[in-house]
Amino acid sequence: MLSADVVCGKCGSVVYQMRMLKSVKDALRGTNSRCPVCGAALNPADFSVSLNKR
Ligand SMILES: [Zn+2]
Repeated sequence: MLSADVVCGKCGSVVYQMRMLKSVKDALRGTNSRCPVCGAALNPADFSVSLNKR
């Protein structure tokens, strides 16, 4: 199974786990484009998506 973790670039927390590949914007819509841990606004340049093949 392919999953992707959206990681906050500020605090390194996993903000969202995607079970399948979809738009990062769609994924972030659920968090108001903010990191729920540190409250940083998540811009596409600020966070990373790591792909894990399982
Ligand atoms: Zn954060």
